[in-house]
Amino acid sequence: MKVAVVPGDGIGEEVVPVAEAALRRLHPEWDYFPVEVGYGRWKRCGAAIGAEELRALRDADAVLFGAVTTPPDPDYRSVIVMLRKELGLYANIRPVRGPGADLTIVRENTEGLYSGIEWDLPGSACTLRVVTEVGSRRIARFAAALAKGRRLTIGTKANVLKSDALFRRCAVEEAEAAGVEWEEKYIDALCLDVLMHPDRYAVVVTTNIFGDILSDAAASLVGGLGLLPSANIGDDHALFEPVHGSAPDIAGQGIANPVAALRSAAMLLDHAGDREGAAAVEAAVESTLGAGVKTSDLGGSATTVEFGEAVLGRLG
Ligand code: ATP
Ligand code: MG
Repeated sequence: MKVAVVPGDGIGEEVVPVAEAALRRLHPEWDYFPVEVGYGRWKRCGAAIGAEELRALRDADAVLFGAVTTPPDPDYRSVIVMLRKELGLYANIRPVRGPGADLTIVRENTEGLYSGIEWDLPGSACTLRVVTEVGSRRIARFAAALAKGRRLTIGTKANVLKSDALFRRCAVEEAEAAGVEWEEKYIDALCLDVLMHPDRYAVVVTTNIFGDILSDAAASLVGGLGLLPSANIGDDHALFEPVHGSAPDIAGQGIANPVAALRSAAMLLDHAGDREGAAAVEAAVESTLGAGVKTSDLGGSATTVEFGEAVLGRLG
């Protein structure tokens, strides 16, 4: 396995080394190589990513990613949004697990409102929400396969948006074709209901921005952003990253919670076919939290490094 390691910016530089250490502990034989991407690189040399970095990421079997800062600068294009497109990472999988919740949000990752097709006009600005049949069927098939034996919830605003009516039709057809039980909900009602009754949901499939918002909201069910991992999967590439961003407000203090990054590493292991390793990382994280070792976002006083050491100690 060739694993590209991209700490990125802010707390990405603090939590990724912890996750990388866990991977190295379980798989010292894998090939790990660092790749510099992000706002830091942009400030240093005027580009958030270069051709060489992109080639390195394409060449990897999996990418362990931290977070990148996207400054409010109109000339700056979000690297992670660009990478999802460049690497064809069309499925964003965000498991939300904790007491009372065991659901997975499957978010379309390459089109929708994040199409990148936008322009300024005098007195207004336009962003095109592009939803294609190919893109919708692809993500719907992925979600239906994941939901096998459980129920698939299709979240849209198909009553208002033509783009979502197309997405809905594709999702329903693919769920039927896969023989998966499905239901549909309007995304606004779904956001509320997922928070009120998380136990009613197993797999939710939705479009790009709705999935982004729903999964951040659902983080509140299980103790906040510091705990949630995600996978970005395509036909040829896979990238694993915490749901949280670079958190500039706490960066550099050594207090970021590395659980989301560790769980992202567990998803990477699972993707690489090492189910046992993935379960071992999950169990080590659970046991560490259960022993009361917690970072400050969870009311504890452990530093990022201390938490990481406690997890590594449990990995053997
Ligand atoms: P970005 O612009 O990169 O998305 P952000 O300011 O939106 O950064 P996020 O990382 O998305 O910040 O997180 C929002 C807030 O949640 C942070 O300001 C931080 O206080 C908290 N937070 C997020 N991740 C963690 C973590 N791993 N550990 C502790 N707190 C976190
Ligand atoms: Mg953010």
